[in-house]
Amino acid sequence: MKRKRNYTLKVVAAFFVTIVFALICSFTYLDYMRNILNNDTKERLLEVADRTTDTMKIKLQSGITELKNLSTAISLKSGYNTEEMKDVLYNYVKESSFQRIELIDPNGDGYSNDFKDINFSDREYFQKAMNGEVNISNFMQEKVSAEIGSTFAVPIFNENNEVIGVLAASKEVSEFKKLLDVNILGGEGYLALVDSSGAIITSQNHKNYDSGITDLREVKFENNNTFVDCSRKFEKGVLKTQSSSNDSKYIAYAPIGINNWYIISIVPASIIEKNITSLNNISSLMWISMSILLLIIVTYIIYSKRKADNKLEKIAFVDSVTNDPNYNSFFYDFNKRMSKEYKNSYALVTLDIDKFKVVNDVFGYENGDDILRHMAFVICENLTQNEIYARHSADNFLILLEYIDEDSMLNRMDSMTIEILNNLDKVIKNMSGRIYSYKFILNYGICIIDDKKDPLDLIVDRANLAKKRVKGSHKTTGAIYTKDLREKMLMEKELENYMDKALREKQFKVYFQPEVSFKTGKIIGAEALVRWYHPEKGIIYPDKFIPLFEKNQFIKKLDYYMFNEVAFYIQKWESEGIVLPKTLSINLSRVHLSDLDLVDELLKIVKDHNVEPSKIGIELTESAFFEDTDLIINVMERLKNAGFKIYIDDFGSGYSSLNTLKDLKVDYLKFDRGFLTNLEDNKKGQAILHNLVNMARDISICTVAEGVETVAQANFLSEKGFDIAQGYYYYKPMTAKELRDKLINDENI
Ligand code: C2E
Ligand code: CA
Ligand code: CA
Repeated sequence: MKRKRNYTLKVVAAFFVTIVFALICSFTYLDYMRNILNNDTKERLLEVADRTTDTMKIKLQSGITELKNLSTAISLKSGYNTEEMKDVLYNYVKESSFQRIELIDPNGDGYSNDFKDINFSDREYFQKAMNGEVNISNFMQEKVSAEIGSTFAVPIFNENNEVIGVLAASKEVSEFKKLLDVNILGGEGYLALVDSSGAIITSQNHKNYDSGITDLREVKFENNNTFVDCSRKFEKGVLKTQSSSNDSKYIAYAPIGINNWYIISIVPASIIEKNITSLNNISSLMWISMSILLLIIVTYIIYSKRKADNKLEKIAFVDSVTNDPNYNSFFYDFNKRMSKEYKNSYALVTLDIDKFKVVNDVFGYENGDDILRHMAFVICENLTQNEIYARHSADNFLILLEYIDEDSMLNRMDSMTIEILNNLDKVIKNMSGRIYSYKFILNYGICIIDDKKDPLDLIVDRANLAKKRVKGSHKTTGAIYTKDLREKMLMEKELENYMDKALREKQFKVYFQPEVSFKTGKIIGAEALVRWYHPEKGIIYPDKFIPLFEKNQFIKKLDYYMFNEVAFYIQKWESEGIVLPKTLSINLSRVHLSDLDLVDELLKIVKDHNVEPSKIGIELTESAFFEDTDLIINVMERLKNAGFKIYIDDFGSGYSSLNTLKDLKVDYLKFDRGFLTNLEDNKKGQAILHNLVNMARDISICTVAEGVETVAQANFLSEKGFDIAQGYYYYKPMTAKELRDKLINDENI
């Protein structure tokens, strides 16, 4: 659920990021484009104005040149009379670009073919020309035609270079207007001619013509600029008019270079905006589609990543059998709960089914898996929100419970295990009632976590250690890890670190416990028992280290060592003439049973010491026979064939059956001390024992009673027909020297 929310959040975040990104890009792009368009438009506006000034200038200058040529011609031909002159001018006007040309004498009286007696002496262009200056007048009403126009005036010189008159010619405004007829900015802009005062003299006939702009001095421009200021500062430029509505305009101005006239080009600012709006629409569309595409890609990437993550997560964090969290997941969640944010106290529980291997054999793997799933289900149902669990391996479950006190921990686990067991019959299928004859046992160990820095491995080990204590109790129960257990563990660790050195330094000593004939009361053999002479801890008994050495396989080395010692003493004593009628027996751990070269190794040792294998008894504990019967029968046969005597040790402590005995070709049955003492007040048991001993004798198996402590026990066992006795009542385990002395002094043999 949480993961799904994360996913949605991610997509939404991706969506927003994409949109914001697209918007930023869009705005930046638009702004950039707007600037480009703006500048481009302004440049083109100015360029057109500029180009038009060139045309205009050329036109004006060619007019002047025309007049100048005519004036030279006139001055050369002085002596024309007025009428002749009129004809000349008349003919000339027909060919020229002017509407009219007149000659003006120094008094200002002008004449031409279409008028007479008009005095021009008040006209500035006449006065300037009389002063020898070629000039073009500002626009004004013509004296002759009464039209608005501009007059070009050039002086006429005599041969002495004195001004003898003025030649004046006019162009009407319409002439200038023609020059402005240029298509600009896709027909959206128009041109106008502005005189030195800033007044618009004429402009192109145009759809965008603004009648409001007739005098640039009155037009308000952006940033409070005025045309006069700007034209004074910059020869040419572009200005934007101020406008409250949307009809502001760009006006580019460029000087013609004559009379301070300007050509201006005007375009509505909205033209640019229009372009920008369409650009805006296109780019918005583009960015939106890109955003959508991007969003689809991002969603797809997130989706595929999540799918891959889920797959990986499943592999990495889900148990293949229970479909619930696995150890990896547990490890992760455990460490989280061990961090500072979690204030709760916790206890770790390890839980398993006793002899799950057997359960699998009896009920089949499918049912085995169903049982595990059922366990997972019940555990899960019983946890609070802060608690976690996982299957660790096979049938081992790890559970992290919130710790309140020891009793509540035990109670919770007890009710959990009862719930698991109560519903098992519903889980196991196709067993037609057999389930009721099988006793399921669950065991658990609890480790209360008092230091959150302890690694999980260590805590699991501790919980397992506690569990081990109740293993083999044949009932569903559990235990809590305590300091005692811890000390035992520490001691084991210490011993483990030290064992190889101890073996090298011969700290392991062989002790012998004599075996006595019930009939004669004499020592007939002995069992070799190991003792560890620890330089600091003193004598350590095998119960303290044998289980550990079996776990770490060191027992193999130790047993070979003991075997060597025993062979050594047999050989030594034989050479001294001390020969025991029976065997010196040694205990062989079950760990050896899977060793293929065991028999060869033992034979090599006896051969090295020149000892008969039949002088050595090999004791194998009874419980080993029922773990892997085939294997042990095979090994025993090989040992027997090699000549060793075979003991079943601790007989009666487990589930031994005489049936198996038949196949085993055993030499000695050593009855367990516990088994014997339990029978003292049990008449039925005694009868069975009696039969067992007799039957053993019938199949030529010697019976040994172990752990005989009292005279009463000795009598009882003797009565039951036992052959051999071993126990504190007779002898305690003793050193080799003590045994040797006893054998010699007591003249036992
Ligand atoms: P086990 O083979 O059953 O050996 C008999 C144990 O009973 C010995 O304990 C012995 O001292 C003790 N015992 C003998 N008579 C009496 C008695 O009258 N009363 C009582 N209470 N106890 C008696 P120990 O020597 O401590 O050995 C314990 C176990 O350690 C042995 O049990 C055997 O399984 C194992 N063990 C001893 N030495 C070796 C060894 O060299 N190799 C292997 N693999 N296991 C050994
Ligand atoms: Ca033994
Ligand atoms: Ca025993």
